[in-house]
Amino acid sequence: MKVFKFGGASVKDADGVKNLCRLLQQTGHSDVFLVVSAMGKTTNAMEEVVEAYFKEGKDFSESLDPVESFHFSLAQELFEEGDPVFTRLQVLFEEVRGFLKWIRSPKYAFVYDQVVGYGELLSTALVSHYLQSQGLENEWIDVRHYIKTDRNYRDAGVDWDQTQARIRKGIKSGPLYITQGFLGSDENNFTTTLGREGSDYTAAILGYCLDAESVTIWKDVSGVLNADPRYFEETTLLEQVSYREAIELAFYGASVIHPKTLQPLQSKEIPLYVRSFIQPKEKGTEVGRGKKIKPEIPCFIVKKKQVLLQLSTLDFSFMAEHHLSNLFDLLHQYRLKTDLIQNSAISFSVCLDNRFGGLEALLKDLEQQFKVNCYRDVDLYTIRHFTEEAVEKTRKDKEVVLEQRNGETVQLVTR
Ligand code: ADP
Ligand code: ASP
Ligand code: MG
Repeated sequence: MKVFKFGGASVKDADGVKNLCRLLQQTGHSDVFLVVSAMGKTTNAMEEVVEAYFKEGKDFSESLDPVESFHFSLAQELFEEGDPVFTRLQVLFEEVRGFLKWIRSPKYAFVYDQVVGYGELLSTALVSHYLQSQGLENEWIDVRHYIKTDRNYRDAGVDWDQTQARIRKGIKSGPLYITQGFLGSDENNFTTTLGREGSDYTAAILGYCLDAESVTIWKDVSGVLNADPRYFEETTLLEQVSYREAIELAFYGASVIHPKTLQPLQSKEIPLYVRSFIQPKEKGTEVGRGKKIKPEIPCFIVKKKQVLLQLSTLDFSFMAEHHLSNLFDLLHQYRLKTDLIQNSAISFSVCLDNRFGGLEALLKDLEQQFKVNCYRDVDLYTIRHFTEEAVEKTRKDKEVVLEQRNGETVQLVTR
């Protein structure tokens, strides 16, 4: 079985859905497991619905109505009036409205997962119906019955044993299956999510549990490039990348692959292909065993809007183990992700991703124990396989507040 994953950009409009269908007709669609994300920017729009739910006096409908119109107008472009897909969409919108109206929970992350996941339920319903209408028989699957997780809402951890057992039992080879990326469910069957951009990871989980022949993630770029095309003008396609190198690139923030995707694939040596849904005949990138990186050139990664904290003790004593242990407990507690650490005798710097909004609470605690310097909104540049020329080019016109060199990697925190 092959696993194919299509992200939000590939199904951002009716033409995208038609293109996905054509691509399957060209590449073959038996024994394929399709994983599809929410359409276009739907997840961001659903996040606004969650914001509205928690804001006193704000009506969530103002945020949900545009999501509804978007999906219905897309369906109108793809289907005849009266097609059963319209009832399917309507039922999903009634469900989410029901939740928002009748369930009162103060738990942000829990509510987030119950609401935001509708993006994927809607997109897969639409795509499944469309493929059927074009003669591509397929089976729509609710991934929440298969991927079981803990209750760490918004960043749930997979229960591999249960997930493996359910997939082995429920999925047969042969048909074309379609399911949602990003979602799972906890022991009480509440929806959980695997972290933003987590659909690549879903594809890897399914690939692992199905012993898939390969996993392909179809993107709006030609494959993994040596630099993020949103921030760098010149980019080169990497034809071959080893699992290890890909894990490093994704960890440092090469957002073309979700960082958790590689580990399950690497452990069973399942190849990962990153290919263009715009030019599906091109080979793209192969992540697998073998050559570290081909061609061997510097790779540039940037993470925007990071936070740099510089800490020193209040009494100029050394930064000792108990200080650090305390610090890392707090980072864990407030769910701040560490990008980079650097220490000296009396100070400790850490560059963080404030993805879950825990920074303010962290600062409050840290200020009791340390002298704290906080730079908000810094950028973190990472250059793998650096040359001095590559470092100089990256430094140009920027104020570098921290630099770190480690083997083949240079990191610069800039503002
Ligand atoms: P999806 O549609 O699957 O969610 P993403 O938007 O998450 O796709 O990933 C594709 C995007 O990743 C590209 O459009 C590109 O802007 C960005 N990107 C960042 N770093 C790289 C890189 N090194 N190579 C290719 N694309 C990259
Ligand atoms: N729809 C989710 C997101 O936008 C998951 C994904 O696209 O991978 O984060
Ligand atoms: Mg995405």
